Amino acid sequence: MFGNLSDKFESALRKVSGKGKISEGNIAEAMEDVREALLEADVDYEIAEAFVGRVSQEAVGTEVLESVDPGQQIIQIVHEELVRLLGGEEAVKDDDPTGGLQAGGPADAIPRVSPGPTVVMVAGLQGSGKTTTCGKLAAALKKQGRSVTLGAADLQRPAAVTQLRVLSEQVGSDACPGTGEVFFHGEPDACAAYGEAVGVAVEVAKRALAAARAHKADVLILDTAGRLHLNDELMKELKRVERAVGPHQVLLVLDAMTGQDAVNSAEAFDKQLEIDGVVLTKFDSDTRGGAALSVREVTGKPIRFVGTGETLDALEGFHPRRIAGRILG
Ligand code: GDP
Repeated sequence: MFGNLSDKFESALRKVSGKGKISEGNIAEAMEDVREALLEADVDYEIAEAFVGRVSQEAVGTEVLESVDPGQQIIQIVHEELVRLLGGEEAVKDDDPTGGLQAGGPADAIPRVSPGPTVVMVAGLQGSGKTTTCGKLAAALKKQGRSVTLGAADLQRPAAVTQLRVLSEQVGSDACPGTGEVFFHGEPDACAAYGEAVGVAVEVAKRALAAARAHKADVLILDTAGRLHLNDELMKELKRVERAVGPHQVLLVLDAMTGQDAVNSAEAFDKQLEIDGVVLTKFDSDTRGGAALSVREVTGKPIRFVGTGETLDALEGFHPRRIAGRILG
């Protein structure tokens, strides 16, 4: 990801770097190319315009042109603007071995509430990577020593419940036979107390919450239904589930490969549900990067985590500063 954008930025900024003196004309020319680069990366037009406008204003309006190395200063301005666009100061320390799940990092997306459990509702379109993300989050939280109950309230996609059960087993817990769509991490013997869930998402959600409470789980992660496209029916179901469990956090899973579509769906989800943060999946894929660069600006919601592969450990905190550095090479 970002390879092409990075190349384009490099050639744009070559127009101002390494020069002893630069003119406003040089800046305008470089910014024209920066705008092109952003648009090619599938960044929303208005966002690209505003980005270039801010950089130009700062570059021309300050002492930059008079400085010893104006090119370097402009690159610095672009860097800071990229960090801002990606969501601001990094929340994750670069040497954090928990991949951003430590307190003070995006782990705050999953706070510790008392009494527990912390309820995390995971929403997104079908195929975005919701169920996989539930498993990854469970694995990461377990590594932190938190116990997790997984609730499989995605009854829309036939394989989702089984998939979550398999993930639950991989995370290292005993999935509970006979509990329908609720899987526990922790006390397997207590599982039997819960009967089959009834095939209605909101019921599964309620049972999952009751189960998590009874087992004193630290966190309940609730997988929810998606559709290929957003529609009223999906939103109604998600809102019912939201009302039933009162999540502390609603995480929206977006597929980075779908670019502007991902951003548009984020906006639509956010109008209906109180989204707290975004998980951008398939960050390992060769996409243009537009979703990562637009989602914060469009929704105002931070990217908390990125999915970097299909395996359970492929979840990382999102580092705006590191990514900006990667884009600028
Ligand atoms: P859901 O319908 O939203 O629950 O989607 P799934 O969790 O089933 O994921 C859809 C596909 O995307 C599966 O093949 C996953 O293995 C894959 N996937 C999910 N997250 C990632 C990721 O971060 N990187 C890659 N490369 N694949 C992912």
